[in-house]
Amino acid sequence: MNSQKKSEPRVKDLRRDFPIFRNHPSLVYLDNAATTHKPASIIDLVKSFYEAENANVHRAVYPLAERATSLYEYSRQEIAHFVGADQDEVVFTKGATESLSLLAASLASSGEYGTFVVPIIEHHSNFLPWQYYARRNGLDFVALPAVGAELSVEDLRRSLRDIEGPFVFSIGGLMNSTGYRTPFEEITEIVHSLGGIIVIDGAQLIPHESFDFRESKTDFLVFSGHKMLAETGIGCLVGRSSLIEELSPLVLGGGMVNRVDVEDSSFSEGVSKLEGGTQNIAGAVSLAGATKYLKGIGMKWINDHVSYLTNIARERLAEIPDLTIHSPSSSHAILLFSHRRIHSHDLAEFLGRTQNVAVRSGHHCAQLQMGALGVSSACRASLYLYNTLEDIERLFEGITKAERWFS
Ligand code: PMP
Repeated sequence: MNSQKKSEPRVKDLRRDFPIFRNHPSLVYLDNAATTHKPASIIDLVKSFYEAENANVHRAVYPLAERATSLYEYSRQEIAHFVGADQDEVVFTKGATESLSLLAASLASSGEYGTFVVPIIEHHSNFLPWQYYARRNGLDFVALPAVGAELSVEDLRRSLRDIEGPFVFSIGGLMNSTGYRTPFEEITEIVHSLGGIIVIDGAQLIPHESFDFRESKTDFLVFSGHKMLAETGIGCLVGRSSLIEELSPLVLGGGMVNRVDVEDSSFSEGVSKLEGGTQNIAGAVSLAGATKYLKGIGMKWINDHVSYLTNIARERLAEIPDLTIHSPSSSHAILLFSHRRIHSHDLAEFLGRTQNVAVRSGHHCAQLQMGALGVSSACRASLYLYNTLEDIERLFEGITKAERWFS
């Protein structure tokens, strides 16, 4: 802990990279699970792409277009490297939601799998597509129960054993509502030993931990750029190349076709088959820039710093008798809490309007998880690399002021 405390000057330094804090000097931003702020270097990358390199990719042979294509492919390579995958295993999408919908639609119609399995604690983006496409394609759909905010690996093993035939199991690495870090490594082994494949929703995990796709032995990984310092509207679907080959496209049109005939048509091979239409080229550049920025800071440092702050925040909030913390004691980066006397929307509004402390309130796109916790709405504080001890004090003070105000 002490070594992290010494890193406070480093945080003060790196906050200068983020223009949002210059424009809003008193802002305490604790809504990082929703989206993160962007360093100036990444904003500049996007600006300079449009000023000096903009053209469509994979279409034309003039130099500007060739340069844009190389940048786009170079970005893919950088991002693949960041998550321990090969370039031909990374598909660009709009984000985790699109990646998961593409996967569920494609795997449901492949005829290879009879059952989709998802824990109920998942973000709706990792629940609805599996439920929807299973129902539409006549597959079985299993929603695994939770013990509060956590999963019991033994219960999970028992449920998976009952499934007949190949199945797809999709699970988040780090839960957006509670910060629960799932034991997906152990679960991957169980799923494989029972003949299933595993999808990791890394929307919250990838910004916080270094992850090696190959080493993890998972089959698919999805994540979003905007939760890890890049632009909105860019994300990835990473898959083993043999599995990527089997996926069918969700979006059809320019850039993904091989030959078009009146009776039937054939599509390109590999990842480009899944990237129909003009892609978010500047977004890809910004995501590659974000991976470099994060590597420069160090994923271990980020993880330690956020973990230190999460523990301090948990201790501080536990001092408020009327506050219930719903996150498990091991949660990372995220604390879900509610107040016995103040509705979560009122508390979040008070914190935002009068204290300039940004937290989110509501069901956090995880209604079933909230049901399992016995609440319909709660506040969530979510931390990232630029947060400080002072931010946590401001949250604590803000809640105590709200208590006085609402009494
Ligand atoms: N999964 C998780 C765990 C998330 O937190 C989110 C976003 N809150 C998503 C999926 C969806 O991500 P996006 O909105 O970027 O597509």
